[in-house]
Amino acid sequence: MEFKEVYCKSCKKVVGRYNIKFYNDEKINELLNTTHSTHIKKGHQISIRKFVKN
Ligand SMILES: [Zn+2]
Repeated sequence: MEFKEVYCKSCKKVVGRYNIKFYNDEKINELLNTTHSTHIKKGHQISIRKFVKN
């Protein structure tokens, strides 16, 4: 299975992991602006990376 992993460089942790089957880029952007917005508001650096799990 393939996931998009939302990683906060400032907190040095993974804040969310989303199965690409159910979450497209648009949906993930939406989550960044809602669920993870506190990081962004604090000016944290968020990066999205691919995560593959068998
Ligand atoms: Zn953060």
